[in-house]
Amino acid sequence: MILKVARMGHPVLRQRAREVTAREIASGVLKQILADMFDTMDEYEGIGLAAPQVHVPLRLLVLEVPPGLRDPDDPAIPRMAMINPVVTPLTDETMDNWEGCLSIPDMIGEVQRPRQVHVAWTAPDGTEHEQEFEGFPAAAIQHEADHLDGVLYVERIQDLKTFQYTREFQRFHARTGGVPEGHDDEG
Ligand code: ZN
Repeated sequence: MILKVARMGHPVLRQRAREVTAREIASGVLKQILADMFDTMDEYEGIGLAAPQVHVPLRLLVLEVPPGLRDPDDPAIPRMAMINPVVTPLTDETMDNWEGCLSIPDMIGEVQRPRQVHVAWTAPDGTEHEQEFEGFPAAAIQHEADHLDGVLYVERIQDLKTFQYTREFQRFHARTGGVPEGHDDEG
Protein backbone atom coordinates (compact mmCIF):
# COMPACT_ATOMS: atom_id res chain seq x y z
CA MET A 1 0.00 0.00 0.00
CA ILE A 2 1.30 3.42 -0.91
CA LEU A 3 1.57 5.63 2.16
CA LYS A 4 1.34 9.37 2.53
CA VAL A 5 4.77 10.97 2.82
CA ALA A 6 5.29 13.55 5.59
CA ARG A 7 6.66 16.81 4.27
CA MET A 8 9.16 19.20 5.85
CA GLY A 9 7.43 20.97 8.73
CA HIS A 10 5.64 17.88 10.00
CA PRO A 11 6.84 17.18 13.57
CA VAL A 12 7.37 13.46 12.85
CA LEU A 13 10.38 14.46 10.74
CA ARG A 14 11.92 16.32 13.65
CA GLN A 15 11.89 13.75 16.40
CA ARG A 16 14.37 11.01 17.19
CA ALA A 17 12.77 7.75 16.12
CA ARG A 18 12.93 4.97 18.70
CA GLU A 19 14.74 1.65 18.37
CA VAL A 20 12.76 -1.31 17.14
CA THR A 21 12.74 -4.03 19.82
CA ALA A 22 13.85 -7.63 19.26
CA ARG A 23 10.34 -8.63 20.27
CA GLU A 24 8.82 -6.47 17.54
CA ILE A 25 11.18 -7.97 14.96
CA ALA A 26 10.31 -11.51 16.07
CA SER A 27 6.58 -10.80 16.12
CA GLY A 28 6.42 -9.97 12.42
CA VAL A 29 4.64 -6.65 12.98
CA LEU A 30 7.19 -4.92 10.74
CA LYS A 31 6.28 -7.01 7.72
CA GLN A 32 3.37 -4.84 6.58
CA ILE A 33 5.05 -1.51 7.24
CA LEU A 34 8.16 -2.62 5.33
CA ALA A 35 6.05 -3.78 2.37
CA ASP A 36 4.24 -0.44 2.43
CA MET A 37 7.54 1.45 2.63
CA PHE A 38 8.84 -0.38 -0.45
CA ASP A 39 5.56 0.35 -2.28
CA THR A 40 5.84 4.03 -1.35
CA MET A 41 9.52 4.27 -2.34
CA ASP A 42 8.70 2.68 -5.71
CA GLU A 43 5.68 4.92 -6.32
CA TYR A 44 7.75 8.07 -5.83
CA GLU A 45 10.81 6.63 -7.59
CA GLY A 46 12.99 7.05 -4.53
CA ILE A 47 16.16 5.17 -3.74
CA GLY A 48 15.50 5.19 -0.03
CA LEU A 49 12.83 5.88 2.53
CA ALA A 50 12.92 6.16 6.31
CA ALA A 51 9.97 5.16 8.49
CA PRO A 52 9.42 8.67 9.97
CA GLN A 53 8.75 9.86 6.42
CA VAL A 54 5.61 7.72 6.44
CA HIS A 55 4.64 8.82 9.96
CA VAL A 56 6.13 5.78 11.71
CA PRO A 57 8.64 6.99 14.34
CA LEU A 58 10.79 3.83 14.33
CA ARG A 59 14.46 3.31 13.41
CA LEU A 60 13.73 1.59 10.17
CA LEU A 61 14.67 2.38 6.57
CA VAL A 62 14.50 0.83 3.12
CA LEU A 63 16.94 1.28 0.25
CA GLU A 64 17.44 0.30 -3.35
CA VAL A 65 20.27 2.15 -5.08
CA PRO A 66 20.99 1.29 -8.72
CA PRO A 67 24.67 0.88 -9.69
CA GLY A 68 26.65 3.79 -11.12
CA LEU A 69 24.00 6.39 -10.39
CA ARG A 70 26.61 9.16 -9.95
CA ASP A 71 30.01 7.64 -10.47
CA PRO A 72 30.17 4.72 -12.92
CA ASP A 73 32.11 2.84 -10.23
CA ASP A 74 29.43 3.30 -7.56
CA PRO A 75 28.17 -0.12 -6.50
CA ALA A 76 24.47 -0.83 -6.13
CA ILE A 77 22.67 -1.35 -2.87
CA PRO A 78 20.25 -4.22 -3.44
CA ARG A 79 16.67 -3.82 -2.29
CA MET A 80 16.96 -4.11 1.45
CA ALA A 81 15.63 -2.99 4.81
CA MET A 82 17.78 -1.87 7.75
CA ILE A 83 16.44 -1.97 11.29
CA ASN A 84 18.20 0.09 13.99
CA PRO A 85 21.07 1.07 11.67
CA VAL A 86 24.18 2.51 13.31
CA VAL A 87 26.29 4.57 10.92
CA THR A 88 29.92 5.34 11.81
CA PRO A 89 32.12 7.51 9.56
CA LEU A 90 35.42 5.83 8.67
CA THR A 91 37.17 8.91 7.32
CA ASP A 92 37.34 12.69 7.69
CA GLU A 93 37.33 12.92 3.91
CA THR A 94 34.03 14.32 2.68
CA MET A 95 32.24 14.14 -0.64
CA ASP A 96 29.90 16.65 -2.24
CA ASN A 97 26.59 14.96 -2.92
CA TRP A 98 23.52 16.33 -4.68
CA GLU A 99 20.50 15.25 -2.66
CA GLY A 100 16.77 15.43 -2.87
CA CYS A 101 14.15 14.17 -0.45
CA LEU A 102 10.60 12.87 -0.83
CA SER A 103 9.74 15.01 2.21
CA ILE A 104 11.02 18.14 0.42
CA PRO A 105 9.59 17.52 -3.05
CA ASP A 106 11.01 18.96 -6.23
CA MET A 107 14.10 20.43 -4.61
CA ILE A 108 17.76 19.56 -4.58
CA GLY A 109 20.89 20.74 -2.78
CA GLU A 110 24.55 19.88 -2.40
CA VAL A 111 25.51 18.22 0.86
CA GLN A 112 28.91 17.33 2.28
CA ARG A 113 29.13 13.88 3.84
CA PRO A 114 31.86 11.48 4.94
CA ARG A 115 32.91 9.42 1.92
CA GLN A 116 33.15 6.12 3.74
CA VAL A 117 31.01 4.70 6.53
CA HIS A 118 30.58 1.51 8.50
CA VAL A 119 26.96 0.45 9.01
CA ALA A 120 25.65 -2.13 11.47
CA TRP A 121 21.99 -3.11 11.31
CA THR A 122 19.44 -5.83 11.91
CA ALA A 123 17.63 -7.40 8.97
CA PRO A 124 13.88 -8.13 9.10
CA ASP A 125 14.66 -11.81 9.73
CA GLY A 126 16.47 -10.79 12.92
CA THR A 127 20.00 -11.42 11.67
CA GLU A 128 22.76 -8.91 12.44
CA HIS A 129 24.74 -7.38 9.58
CA GLU A 130 27.62 -4.98 9.11
CA GLN A 131 29.19 -3.57 5.99
CA GLU A 132 31.32 -0.69 4.77
CA PHE A 133 29.91 1.64 2.14
CA GLU A 134 31.68 4.23 0.04
CA GLY A 135 30.70 7.02 -2.33
CA PHE A 136 27.10 7.63 -3.31
CA PRO A 137 25.68 4.53 -1.57
CA ALA A 138 27.35 5.72 1.66
CA ALA A 139 25.73 9.15 1.23
CA ALA A 140 22.32 7.59 0.52
CA ILE A 141 22.45 5.58 3.75
CA GLN A 142 23.55 8.66 5.72
CA HIS A 143 20.63 10.65 4.28
CA GLU A 144 18.13 7.99 5.38
CA ALA A 145 19.77 7.45 8.78
CA ASP A 146 19.61 11.21 9.38
CA HIS A 147 15.81 10.96 9.14
CA LEU A 148 15.87 8.64 12.16
CA ASP A 149 17.48 11.44 14.17
CA GLY A 150 15.13 14.14 12.95
CA VAL A 151 17.71 15.65 10.60
CA LEU A 152 16.94 16.80 7.05
CA TYR A 153 19.56 17.23 4.35
CA VAL A 154 18.91 20.96 4.06
CA GLU A 155 20.61 21.46 7.44
CA ARG A 156 23.76 19.92 6.01
CA ILE A 157 23.97 22.18 2.96
CA GLN A 158 27.05 24.37 3.37
CA ASP A 159 26.37 26.63 0.41
CA LEU A 160 22.67 27.49 0.41
CA LYS A 161 23.02 28.77 -3.14
CA THR A 162 23.03 25.13 -4.21
CA PHE A 163 19.51 24.67 -2.77
CA GLN A 164 17.19 24.93 -5.74
CA TYR A 165 14.26 23.45 -7.62
CA THR A 166 15.15 20.18 -9.33
CA ARG A 167 13.66 21.37 -12.60
CA GLU A 168 15.82 24.50 -12.70
CA PHE A 169 18.83 22.46 -11.62
CA GLN A 170 18.31 20.13 -14.55
CA ARG A 171 17.68 23.03 -16.90
CA PHE A 172 20.64 25.20 -15.95
CA HIS A 173 23.18 23.25 -13.95
CA ALA A 174 22.98 19.51 -14.47
CA ARG A 175 25.21 19.42 -17.55
CA THR A 176 27.95 21.45 -15.91
CA GLY A 177 27.50 20.00 -12.45
CA GLY A 178 28.52 16.52 -13.47
CA VAL A 179 25.19 15.04 -12.52
CA PRO A 180 23.45 13.07 -15.24
CA GLU A 181 20.07 14.33 -16.30
CA GLY A 182 17.17 12.38 -14.95
CA HIS A 183 19.26 11.39 -11.94
CA ASP A 184 17.24 9.98 -9.16
CA ASP A 185 18.24 10.63 -5.62
CA GLU A 186 15.03 11.11 -3.77
CA GLY A 187 14.81 9.63 -0.37
ZN1 ZN B 1 14.91 12.24 2.75
